[in-house]
Amino acid sequence: MKNDIFERIKEEITIEDIFNYYGIEINRNRKALCCWHDDNSPSMSVNLVAGLWYCHVCCEGGDIFSFVALKESCTPYQAAQILDERHGLDLIATTTRPTRKQVSDHQAKKEALARFKEDLRSVENKLSDYFLLFHRATIDPPDNFDEMPPLYEIALKERSYTEYLLDFLAFGNFEDRAHGYKMAKQYLQRLEAAI
Ligand SMILES: [Zn+2]
Repeated sequence: MKNDIFERIKEEITIEDIFNYYGIEINRNRKALCCWHDDNSPSMSVNLVAGLWYCHVCCEGGDIFSFVALKESCTPYQAAQILDERHGLDLIATTTRPTRKQVSDHQAKKEALARFKEDLRSVENKLSDYFLLFHRATIDPPDNFDEMPPLYEIALKERSYTEYLLDFLAFGNFEDRAHGYKMAKQYLQRLEAAI
């Protein structure tokens, strides 16, 4: 259903139309100046037949919908709605257009996600600080292994788990990372109390 609308819009609007609308010139070699980085020599390749673009510096590309989505800071589906309206195609029934509330919900979700990523980064930073601290603390083993300095003992005990959590946060899928974030937060609280 959604794809159908995408296809129909693509039949009506070419990538040239999109570039014209945004005032971006496509040269003889089918290259254009990228609008997302400071571009002096055209870095953006355009395939007029396939309706695709790609910037070799930003490593970003796609079809007309991804172009408009980036330009308008919206989702590709919202980009389709923008194009439908802008070009007067009327392919998308008004009732299926998102309401203001839906758009603002989407915005709220995006903001919550950005906050979560920030929190995640700060948890990762704290964990790597501890990992380094533990690493340094374990370099010099005490003469008497039965009477370890407290930090040395904690470091030996906790280093591997700290590393495990760091890997979990770095390489897990989104759900893993969300779960790892919770575990890491509790773990950091325990560490902070112990040291
Ligand atoms: Zn670029």
